Order: sequence, then C-alpha cells, then structure tokens
Amino acid sequence: MPMTPKDVVAFAQEKQCAFVDYKFLDFVGIWQHFTTPIREFSEDIFEEGIGFDGSSIRGWQPIHNSDMLIIPDPTTAKIDPFVEQTTLSLICNIVDPITREGYSRDPRFIARKAEAYLKSTGIADTVYFGPEPECFVFDDVRYASGPNESFYAVDSVEGIWNTGRQEYPNLGYKPRHKEGYFPCAPTDSMIDLRNEMMLVMQEVGLHIECGHHEVATGGQIEIDMRFDSLLKMGDNLQWFKYIIKNVAFRNGKTATFMPKPIFGDNGSGMHCHQSLWKDGKNLFAGDGYGGLSKLAMYYMGGIIKHAKALCAFTNPSTNSYKRLVPGYEAPVNLAYSNRNRSASLRIPVTNNEKAKRIEYRTPDPAANGYLAFAAMLMAGLDGIENKIDPGQPLDKDIYGLSPEELKDIPAVAGTLEEALNSLRDDHAFLLKGDVFTEDVIDMWISYKKEAEVDRVRMRPSPEEFALYFDC
Ligand code: GLU
Ligand code: MG
Ligand code: MG
Repeated sequence: MPMTPKDVVAFAQEKQCAFVDYKFLDFVGIWQHFTTPIREFSEDIFEEGIGFDGSSIRGWQPIHNSDMLIIPDPTTAKIDPFVEQTTLSLICNIVDPITREGYSRDPRFIARKAEAYLKSTGIADTVYFGPEPECFVFDDVRYASGPNESFYAVDSVEGIWNTGRQEYPNLGYKPRHKEGYFPCAPTDSMIDLRNEMMLVMQEVGLHIECGHHEVATGGQIEIDMRFDSLLKMGDNLQWFKYIIKNVAFRNGKTATFMPKPIFGDNGSGMHCHQSLWKDGKNLFAGDGYGGLSKLAMYYMGGIIKHAKALCAFTNPSTNSYKRLVPGYEAPVNLAYSNRNRSASLRIPVTNNEKAKRIEYRTPDPAANGYLAFAAMLMAGLDGIENKIDPGQPLDKDIYGLSPEELKDIPAVAGTLEEALNSLRDDHAFLLKGDVFTEDVIDMWISYKKEAEVDRVRMRPSPEEFALYFDC
C-alpha cells in the first residue's frame, strides 16, 4: 500500500530520523535538495508545502517572480543511505504558491500529466518503462584546463587508450576497446563496486535484475532495474543515478552518465523498453512481426515519425550526438527489427506474452527521465491515434549498408541543434492533454541553444588545434 502523510510521520518516528531531505528534479535533469531538522516536519507539510527560490534553478522562474513551493509526495518516502544522521527522503512536486497549481516546468508534473493523458485516451491504463542507463566509472578524472579556458576531462587510466600517455600505477588487464562485454575479473575490475551499488539500490527498494561490465574499455558498467510505470520509473531513475554516483564517490571514483566520454569506443546509452497495458493485459503482444500487436506497430510508427523531435528530450546534450554514430551499437537509422542492435527499435525475443515489448535504443542517460519517458509515450500514442505505419522491418546490419541502400531510411538527429529545430517544427503531439505546454517547449529550446549549443559551438576544441594549428 502506498504511504499516506500519516504513515510517513510514523515511519520517520520509527526510524528515529534526525532530518528530512526534500528532493526534486530540475528542468535540465539534476536532482536538487534541501534539508530540515525533523522537528520542522509534520503531516501539514504535505498540504502546505515549503517555499524555495525558483529563480535559482536553471530554466525556471524569473527573479521578480521567484517564490515557489515544494509539496512532497508521501509515496516516495525512503531513508537516504548516504547521509550520516538518519534522514527521511521525500521526492517533491513543484506548485505555484498563489494558484497552488502544478508548475508547468516541473518535469515530474509533466510525467504525471502524461500518465493522466494516457488514461483519458482509453487506449491503455498503464505504460511501463524499463530504461537501461549505462555509465562510465573512472578512477581519477582530472579536468585539464585547455586553450581559451575550455575544460576537458582526462582520465589517468583511460588516458593510456585515449592519448597514449603513461599509466601510473599500471594495473594491467584493461579490456581492449569494445571488448569489455564481459570477461571475468581481473579484466572486470568493477564487480565489487557494482555489487555495492546493487545492494544500496535494493536497500532503497529498487528491484534490480542484473549488473555487468559493458562493451567499452575498463569502467563502463550497466545495472538493470525491473520495469515500472512512467512516474515511478522517473523517480527510480533518479535514485539509480544518485546511488551510482555516490557509491563511486565514496570509493574514490567518479561515475559519469555523459553519453560519449571516450572517442573510438562505445558510448553510454539508455535504451528504453516500453509497453502499454490495459486491465492487466499487455497490449503489445500479438501475432504480427516479432510477436507484436498492430497497436505496438503503430506505437513504433509514432516513435519513428517524431524521432528527430524526440531527440531533443531523449538525447539532450551536444555530447549525445558523438554517441549516435555508426559502429558502436548506438543507432543512427530509424528502423525496427527483431534482435538487431544496429536498429533504433529492437524487438527483444521472448515467448512470454507479458514480456512482449519494444526497446527504443536511441535515448541516452543525459536525458531527464520524466521528460523523455513522457515524450516517447506521447509519440507512441500519436502513432496509435493516427495509425502511423512504421514501414517494413530492417533485419540487416545497418552499419554495413551502402549510401544507396540507406537513402530511404530516416536517421536520428545529427546534432543537438537539429534536434531542437525539429522539436520547434514538430511538437503538436506533445501538447495534447496539456502534457507539455508551448512555454515548456520554447523554454527548452532556448535554454538548450543558449546555454549548451552556443557555449560548445563558440569554444575552440583541442581537436581543432590538432587539425588547424599549422594551417
Ligand atoms: N553502449 C551501447 C549504446 O550506446 C549499447 C550496448 C548494448 O547493446 O547494451 O547504446
Ligand atoms: Mg547495455
Ligand atoms: Mg539494451
């Protein structure tokens, strides 16, 4: 049974909590928080909320209108495993203190509206997401100051592969490029760290299925959570990233969900398994291609049609597009296929009707989970509502196709700028049910262009020195 405010107060007493930590996800996708002593905590907080300065959060309120409220969600109560004094942790919704309505730029509000919209269509009552966020754990990332005050990360262990520098100490047994999946220790030097991460994840109630080294050289890992409904998975994903980063940190290491930290090796994706359910029945199971239903085909049609615009949410960093290149198990082309890891939509093989699902392989872990899940659902629903045909399956190694064979196969966005321009031209499907609003779309595009695209575009990169210094 989900916890009520009364249950949470009793839980905090039983656990003898000294503090309460309030967490929420900002617009860009970083978990924010503040803490109060337990004596400030009561059932009333779930009604009245607590004020904070909304103008200091990226992409939110202007300074002259900065007061905002958090309202904690009692069903999210947990003990924070990284705080020394026992601390109750609550994930919060953001509301306007005057209207007391949900804040349109709160990603969690967008996720809640997406779930409500799904129900209102009558198509399904639940959407399940199973994201597979990959990441790198580095031993010692140094931010080296580059030309013109640009900064870039150099890892002392990975450095030997990237730059040919000497490695001290030389611990050997590093997986070769693209051969990290998945020899035993000592080639896999991450097992104890991953196990520690998985234990903490289970402690906070995440259902963990598996952990392993990933394909890239030393330090790329994946831990898989069991699927969950959209909002819950948005919350789970935040706990997941928080635990990976903090367990790495307390072991003297650094974890990053940056999609492509190392040139010439696999990047980190966040493939998203998804399916629609109604009255306990999986609507994606059927007798069509790959054991999928017609409805699942249309859902994929919607994803393919809107994929470039979706990239603005599923691949929202300039670095995301350094991953979406041929040859590294990340998709470039928009096609669906059974078992094919070069296609953007894979249909995992299973005879179990309940496990029938699609895996969208384009997203990466720089995404704000609430926004990316909501946007993918809206694209899929648009496909169902408009019976969008996903075309023929493509059961070939797409990386090996000639330009002639590729010419009619659509591709994902090639840059963040292209993704943002696509979103500008194609976002009516996101506005249904007021899930996303024009304000959110405008703000997302202008924030990303000014704070990220321009910032990267205007700075000379080390690679430009290699190419042009002698010109
Ligand atoms: N790391 C690959 C990617 O960027 C995926 C590897 C896998 O199939 O799990 O998407
Ligand atoms: Mg993987
Ligand atoms: Mg996968």
